[in-house]
Amino acid sequence: MSLSEQLSAEQLQAIDRAHIWHPYASATAAPPVYPVVSAEGVRLKLADGRELIDGISSWWSVLHGYNHPVLNQAARDQLEKMSHVMFGGITHPPAVKLAKLLVDITPTPLTRVFFSDSGSVSVEVAIKMAIQYWYSVGKKEKTRLLTLKSGYHGDTFGAMAVCDPVTGMHHLFSGVLPKHLFADAPKTAFDEPYDDADINSLKQLIEQHHHQLAAVILEPIVQGTGGMNFYSPEYLKQVRQLCDQHDVLLICDEIATGFGRTGKLFACEHANIAPDILCLGKTLTGGYLSLAATLCTEKIAIGISEGEAGVFMHGPTFMANPMATAVSLASVELLLSQPWQDNISRIEQQLRQGLAPAAKLAQVADVRVLGSIGVIEMKSAVDMARIQQQLVAEGIWVRPFGKLVYTIPPYIIDNRDLQILTKGLVKVVESC
Ligand SMILES: *Cc1c(COP(=O)(O)O)cnc(C)c1O
Repeated sequence: MSLSEQLSAEQLQAIDRAHIWHPYASATAAPPVYPVVSAEGVRLKLADGRELIDGISSWWSVLHGYNHPVLNQAARDQLEKMSHVMFGGITHPPAVKLAKLLVDITPTPLTRVFFSDSGSVSVEVAIKMAIQYWYSVGKKEKTRLLTLKSGYHGDTFGAMAVCDPVTGMHHLFSGVLPKHLFADAPKTAFDEPYDDADINSLKQLIEQHHHQLAAVILEPIVQGTGGMNFYSPEYLKQVRQLCDQHDVLLICDEIATGFGRTGKLFACEHANIAPDILCLGKTLTGGYLSLAATLCTEKIAIGISEGEAGVFMHGPTFMANPMATAVSLASVELLLSQPWQDNISRIEQQLRQGLAPAAKLAQVADVRVLGSIGVIEMKSAVDMARIQQQLVAEGIWVRPFGKLVYTIPPYIIDNRDLQILTKGLVKVVESC
């Protein structure tokens, strides 16, 4: 079967059903998947000719829309030069320029960049850095992690072990997952007066276990896939202070929140704090290619490098892939060249207005918006297969889960399309 052979929507679905695993899906009882043949701007084009507005940026990743001329050109230019080269003993211009740019725009103490190929791996790298750092400076007992309930950090074993134990179904893997510590998630919402009691759970755990703790790992300000909670910057400030007081590193996972999604370039900026280790992914290439990065401070880099191993023990085959780093550089530069903050405020206002009618519905528990993230939280879990069909019938693509119907549109979405998106969401939620 050659790439140029035309398959109908039905043929694509039939072969797919027989052979392909989809994310978090059954191999035998999966609802039908929608074949997409191309995409342009904010629209996905289906094999049957329909078009859908992508209200979820292909899972938080597509910033500037699909088929963007600037990103296409960056990919083409790099393809002509070289699509890949190993990173052991070799460097190349896109990786060097991107690393410099990331160091310049992330919080000041972060000076070293480790590239990898996916968010989960960047979390593995972050965890490994923290543990190897403490080992190197002679505190070998500091190997555990402290994190928040309702968190999400990825699907590989190290990352999984710090996801919410219930929604992450840790019981399926007990015995093979390392046992870490879970503090209650903060309750004070982003714009509410902070309730000091929020920190008690984490404070207690850090005071009790700091001698074994390598790091606290969390998603700053927005807990994404684990619950779409927007929490108070005060909480994050207190976590930073407690980490400093107790000699525990702070890992911020900004794989979902990075690059403007919450209204600041990085969500840490809402609290004016800097992590010791930072994970970036998803949006890093504007959704074009798979790339992630783990940044750390000079202190950690030196600690590891002057320790027993003398090197950091990680090195992916496709580390700093030239195509991915070239497109990433173009994407970040494109973002920074625009009045992106005004644009996110525009989207925020439109989402607030457009989703407000949902707040009055009896079946809705809460409607909340932060930056370009809009969430309708239902009182009970939605029927995924049914709601997906209804959303598609409205011409919009989002991917609800559990009680959460949410949108995170690409930044290029205009007000007219935002209206179609929010009206469609409210209409579908009304019929739930
Ligand atoms: C998506 C996500 C990850 C995992 O990234 P993958 O590229 O899917 O491996 C980790 N942390 C957060 C906060 C995420 O949103």
